[in-house]
Amino acid sequence: MSHVLAADIGGTNIRLAIIDEHGNILDESREQAALSQHTSVSQVVAETHVINILSKAMQPILQQKTYPIDAVGIGFPGFFRGNSGILAASPNLPLLHDFHLAALLSDSLGKAVVVQNDALCAAIGEHSHGVGQGQQNILHITLGTGIGSGLILNNTPYSGEHGMAMEFGHLCVDRSNEKNRRLCGCGNYGCVEAYASATAVAQRFNEKHGSEHSAKEVFELALQGHQHAINTIHEAGQYLGMAIAEAVKLLDVTTISISGGLSHAWDLLYPSMTDALDNNLIAPLKGNIDVRRSILDDNAGLLGAATIAREH
Ligand SMILES: [Zn+2]
Repeated sequence: MSHVLAADIGGTNIRLAIIDEHGNILDESREQAALSQHTSVSQVVAETHVINILSKAMQPILQQKTYPIDAVGIGFPGFFRGNSGILAASPNLPLLHDFHLAALLSDSLGKAVVVQNDALCAAIGEHSHGVGQGQQNILHITLGTGIGSGLILNNTPYSGEHGMAMEFGHLCVDRSNEKNRRLCGCGNYGCVEAYASATAVAQRFNEKHGSEHSAKEVFELALQGHQHAINTIHEAGQYLGMAIAEAVKLLDVTTISISGGLSHAWDLLYPSMTDALDNNLIAPLKGNIDVRRSILDDNAGLLGAATIAREH
């Protein structure tokens, strides 16, 4: 029986799991880890900070004897140079670039380490264990704090020439007057992330309502029949459908899976999303795109990290 240690690195915490060759999660833990704390003054200090935090979190799991670990796979928020494990850049960790993350962490842990973009890991997990199983192509979208996305083409993860392919969250869905368009975290206006991430849904609801609800609370209000909460989620679905149509025009991918916080409001999101999708597709594809809620949800990234570790 072979086991890998999989990690899904977020802005404020690290999820770790021991996963067997069938994709079963045997043990799981979550640690607070502020990787993006801006205390570092130089790249070397920032690199050491990241390696130390990850090593410290992983060492106890590598040293346990119940499940001997063969390799480590990591989904990390940043852009990687192909499969080299070299982090080209990370929006949350601006000091880091051309950082040999996999090699340095492998030296520290004494194990093979494979690292890839977190959203691409989720797509790999969805392809190997989720709704993409048996499909050659899949586009996976995560609707969380932001919008992440990963693409599998011809059974191969596609990350582009600079590790920045499928920045789906930054497709422009609103070209109206600049005063009306929403500003995205990337600095541009009108990105789908500013309308259809879980964070954006909460913000849009609160702006109109003068409230301070979390995304989860907005979903709950919608499920209780609160009309404005329902409308906000419907609108998010419309923007999401428009963005998916643009992606399909480029890629001609039939299977699309969606996970993350906003997917928990699926029954409210799905009708307006598929209407907008079909309204914006070219005719032969209308009604033929299969958009599904992820069956793996939050575990897609972990299972993808396990898959890249195993295939290394
Ligand atoms: Zn953007």
